Amino acid sequence: MAFREIVTIPEPVLRRKARKVSEFDSELQTLVDDMVETVQQAPGVGLAAPQINVSQRVIVVEYGDDEDEDVPPKLYIVVNPEIVRFSQEKITATEGCLSIPGFAGEVERSESITVKGSNRRGQPMRIKATGWLARIFQHEIDHLDGVLFIDRAERVWKVEGEARQVAPAD
Ligand code: ZN
Repeated sequence: MAFREIVTIPEPVLRRKARKVSEFDSELQTLVDDMVETVQQAPGVGLAAPQINVSQRVIVVEYGDDEDEDVPPKLYIVVNPEIVRFSQEKITATEGCLSIPGFAGEVERSESITVKGSNRRGQPMRIKATGWLARIFQHEIDHLDGVLFIDRAERVWKVEGEARQVAPAD
């Protein structure tokens, strides 16, 4: 596994629609391993392949329930993710992005979603997510379509130091 450099705006790859993965080969396995290493070292709670300059539809999300420290964070790897259900209920909260360091913004997202996709071996998977996990998935899947949180934010502001990616505001 290797850490890969995270690209920041205005890198064009961040605005491109990423390609669907069709081969679940060793190259993909290396990409996934490197994305896991990179999101853990960043540290972040999610990473989309375009953020390491690879225009492919792969995301990794690592998120633990803040209220229960005994439960280790869960790692999700989703290839060709697609949101097949958005809840009507929406929540506005503060987001940041590893590719837009130094900024945060308030973004409205669905409170819960269902994500469909494949695991790293190409087997179909389905994830139901609510709350912060749902928000992280929506943020990462947006990256695959070249959409950034600043496009959706009602307001954006500068933050001191390094902004954490999609994290609770305080
Ligand atoms: Zn991001």
